[in-house]
Amino acid sequence: MKYSALKGVHDLFPPDIYIWQKVESIADEVFSAYGFHELRVPIIESTDIFVRSIGETTDIVEKEMYTFPDKANRSITLRPEGTAPVVRCYIENHLYNQPSPQKFFYSGPMFRYERPQKGRFRQFYQIGVEAFGVPEPKLDAEILSMLKLFLERLGLKELSFEVNSIGCEKCRPDYKKALIDFFASKTVNLCPDCKRRYTQNPLRILDCKVDSCIELRAGAPQVTNYLCNECKEHFEEFQSSLKLLNISYIINPNMVRGLDYYTRTTFEVTSEHLGAQKAVAAGGRYDRLVEEFGGPPTPAIGFAIGMERLVEILKNKSETLETSPKVVLATIGKEADKEGLSIAEKLRAKGISVELGYGNSSLKSQMRRADRLKADYVVIIGDDELKSGRIKWKNLKDGSQGEIGIWEIEGFKGFY
Ligand code: ATP
Ligand code: MG
Repeated sequence: MKYSALKGVHDLFPPDIYIWQKVESIADEVFSAYGFHELRVPIIESTDIFVRSIGETTDIVEKEMYTFPDKANRSITLRPEGTAPVVRCYIENHLYNQPSPQKFFYSGPMFRYERPQKGRFRQFYQIGVEAFGVPEPKLDAEILSMLKLFLERLGLKELSFEVNSIGCEKCRPDYKKALIDFFASKTVNLCPDCKRRYTQNPLRILDCKVDSCIELRAGAPQVTNYLCNECKEHFEEFQSSLKLLNISYIINPNMVRGLDYYTRTTFEVTSEHLGAQKAVAAGGRYDRLVEEFGGPPTPAIGFAIGMERLVEILKNKSETLETSPKVVLATIGKEADKEGLSIAEKLRAKGISVELGYGNSSLKSQMRRADRLKADYVVIIGDDELKSGRIKWKNLKDGSQGEIGIWEIEGFKGFY
């Protein structure tokens, strides 16, 4: 029988995996420099955690969740995003008792039952960050700057930063009302989803990807004109911090984001190289969510990066990230094999990557293999070498070669 992976999921293996590892290690480095600490939360949670936070009338909750009853008939959901589990963890473990702000990053798979296509998978990976305890927009700008630095460290400069403010519970009702008035005469032409959104959650219409709805919303009232004074001030201060940090951005008043928990600042990073699914990273403030989850009132902000989309952009760059062994130990004969095995172990213990020869292959084929593996050095051990106690080395990068005593090999300068 032939098995294949489920639709919309994918395996990861070399050489692409090297890009993933590089992205993860740079994320670790950059986010740590900003005081973020890693957090690992479960992949499964109670369904209501997502329904309550993301919102019942969002695409994720309405259509995209992997939800199933477990053996005790509890409703379980494979996490579609990371913020809700992180907030649950923050409250459940009383992390708010630690000095504020508390800053975390996470990475791992997310699950959404979407139609698989370029840039859209059913199991996809995100790296995300969440910062708790600071209401000031200075933090919003710092977080965007951190994201920019991370992308620059990966060699990505030509990305756009789109920002918006979607107000707070004080001013959003006015904006909602303005939207309802605007779409009142247009409802017949909205897509079936937006017809429903019109009554339940009109902001979502601005997020709809159906062409006719995009046309219908031209000229719709813009949220930035409906912000209360506090939100307006917050948005202005956010923008002046962005300018101070030399981050170029555009305001996209239609960016309401697909999750209900956002307040004030929202943002997306997009790339023209990605086609229709062009958002590489997205996030925003969610100042009310911790309290709604039963924690103390705690402002918060975060973002998530879509790994597959990021890797897609990086793959188009020419830099190769393959890792190759430092040394290939070519051994000829049983005795040499044994000697090779113990030398390899000693070198590996010092952090040098070593590949051994297997299966009695000829010196020629072992040399060919070393070439294919792009090793830096080949070290040759045969009967003669064992007798004399001196082994041959060759540098495959510059062609230099020589001999060295077996007992000296661990200290060979070229390996370090
Ligand atoms: P989109 O508008 O593309 O559907 P979204 O608003 O649903 O995105 P978020 O929930 O904000 O996405 O997730 C943050 C990032 O995760 C997105 O910008 C994207 O890069 C990535 N992402 C979201 N859904 C998928 C998916 N199904 N497959 C791959 N990556 C995804
Ligand atoms: Mg989506």
